[in-house]
Amino acid sequence: EVYLGEAEKVVNSLCPYCGVGCQTKIHVKDDKILKVDGRTGPANENRLCVKGRFGMDYARHPTRLTKPLIRRDDAPKSWDCEVDPANPYTHFRDATWEEALDRAAKGFLKIREAKGRLALAGFGSAKGSNEEAYLFQKLVRTAFKSNNVDHCTRLCHASSVAALMEGMNSGAVTAPFTDALKSDLIIIIGCRPGQNHPVAATYLKQAAKKGAKLVVMDPRKQQLTRHAWKHLQFKPGADVALLNAMIHTIIDEDLIDQQYIQANTDGYEEVAENAKGFSPEAMEELCGIDAETIREVARAYATAERSIIFWGMGVSQHVHGTDNVRSLISLAAITGQIGREGTGLHPLRGQNNVQGASDVGLIPMVYPDYKSVSDVETRNIFQDLWGMELDPERGLTVVEIINAIIADEINGMYVMGENPAMSDPDAKHAREALAKLDHLVVQEIFLTETAFHADVVLPASAFPEKSGTFTNTNRQVQMARPALNLPGDAKQDWWIIQELANRMGLNWTYSGPKDVYEEFRTVMASIKGISWDRLEREDAVTYPCDSEDEPGHAVIFGEGFPTANGRVKLVPTDLLPPAELPDEQFPMVLTTGRLLEHWHTGAMTRRASVLDTIEPEGQVHMHPKWMDEKDISPGEMVAVSTRRGAVQLKARADRDVTPGMIFIPFCFAEGPANFLTNPQLDPFGKIPEFKFCAAKVEKLKTD
Ligand code: SF4
Repeated sequence: EVYLGEAEKVVNSLCPYCGVGCQTKIHVKDDKILKVDGRTGPANENRLCVKGRFGMDYARHPTRLTKPLIRRDDAPKSWDCEVDPANPYTHFRDATWEEALDRAAKGFLKIREAKGRLALAGFGSAKGSNEEAYLFQKLVRTAFKSNNVDHCTRLCHASSVAALMEGMNSGAVTAPFTDALKSDLIIIIGCRPGQNHPVAATYLKQAAKKGAKLVVMDPRKQQLTRHAWKHLQFKPGADVALLNAMIHTIIDEDLIDQQYIQANTDGYEEVAENAKGFSPEAMEELCGIDAETIREVARAYATAERSIIFWGMGVSQHVHGTDNVRSLISLAAITGQIGREGTGLHPLRGQNNVQGASDVGLIPMVYPDYKSVSDVETRNIFQDLWGMELDPERGLTVVEIINAIIADEINGMYVMGENPAMSDPDAKHAREALAKLDHLVVQEIFLTETAFHADVVLPASAFPEKSGTFTNTNRQVQMARPALNLPGDAKQDWWIIQELANRMGLNWTYSGPKDVYEEFRTVMASIKGISWDRLEREDAVTYPCDSEDEPGHAVIFGEGFPTANGRVKLVPTDLLPPAELPDEQFPMVLTTGRLLEHWHTGAMTRRASVLDTIEPEGQVHMHPKWMDEKDISPGEMVAVSTRRGAVQLKARADRDVTPGMIFIPFCFAEGPANFLTNPQLDPFGKIPEFKFCAAKVEKLKTD
């Protein structure tokens, strides 16, 4: 549907998609979005990509949930339970808010009383505001009474945060991506900003055009390769070998920053000793990159006046994801390429509020501002704030919760805005777990693959209907404002969480997001200087920010690190192969990810008409040469299988992947990539290995 005419109002808000956090102007008429423009935000300076500009009509999709639903007593529950979102009434019936909320709360209370507090868990969402994320984790910690709360950060940058917290006691970026314009050398490793952070990619291209050396390190080619000084197309899974070979070169050729190391680091001797075994000559075969190229890039990185590193899921989603990031930290620290403008470490965040949701404690190990749940002093602060005793043990993570359901240790779940039936590895296993739950409450805007399994569905607010704060990849806290009214009986997420909390015996009286924000600001030193009223005036302020009259710190760690002794801890890393290597039966390497037009599990972008028209169906991407060898034509249906399952998809010729490798986007419910992926976890970040498993592709028989 296309809406035409003059806008009645133009609302200053944000893009609901990636972590870049573009500021938008939403033009509205008759409670419908006419168009979306960019604004002069610090992360986009008027720019928008196709998702931000054309991806907002999902909010008015005809299958939008507008009434609470309760599962019919005779509706089947099984892993392959599917409900027609346009006609859910074979499985669900309408309910009033009173009935749905009572049913939801009573189900949780019954399980808590019968099986104990650890039998409940919650998945919050990085698509919600900081206020919604804070309330969700507070509900799990105070009404469920455990720390079994997590969200999709576990599936994207958990290993990055594990390594950054270990090394620097901070999980956020050290410099904004716009600092690339001040860099002389830019490394992007394991990320595809052209697809996944398109507006950030424009800054990287601009920097390259201004003369910065752009180094793309990735097993796949990508749009930015065209602008690169070097593309190191290393073999999948060889990240640690490549990075340690660079560290070896820098030490071997005496290109380290001795003064910086002495003043700011611990553990250099161990890293140097470890690097002796990683000469580029010894690693070239493993990496698939010749030794001289590795040395040349390492020299350029170390000797540039300002070098900066960006990374994404290609680094983090491995069983050695934490080691990959530890190696990046060492690389930056031994060369002093951190803490100054144009330098640093930047894990590009995937969802528009994955940074903020983590900051406000939507993870099982920490309260807001990354304060450990097992630290007595911290716990006392939150016990005082929330008025009750809190669980001192860290909770379970996303994949651990799914496994605990299968083991009958968790029986009730509250899911807000997450879609584990599509996003979790080995998704059939995840769906079996959802179907096994005694009580599943899903708060959503659509009847997603996860909501199919729910006992109670609570219709919630879409992004253009929300007011609240969101924190982007640059640590910029930004204000989103509502452009549309809620449809039907849908309610604001913060209101729904509060109603549930009160039905579970709490006594919350928030009157809106501002109350919630100002509550967590009292215990988050990082945003001390960023009041709600200031955000209303200024729209975006970077944290850490100590007082209302300072702009916030865009570049951090110039004067030491927030560790006990002010130094960054360097950790040596060793080679750990992917958990599942190709073999005779499954000879190919499968990797998964996003497309430019589709975002995450597709719940929003598949319902955005322009985006879904451009990319309407799931396909498996393969190198044309390999397709020729196997007599597979573009557009032909093929079967892709791994040890966990099989899906049928159309073949797509794609020169970005190498022969022997296949790529499947994970947003298509018709051929879910995550039916295939390996749930093996990185031992530190507990992140699954989405980026590597053994697979095979077969032609479908035509007779
Ligand atoms: Fe939205 Fe990200 Fe595109 Fe900006 S770059 S418009 S935040 S999807």
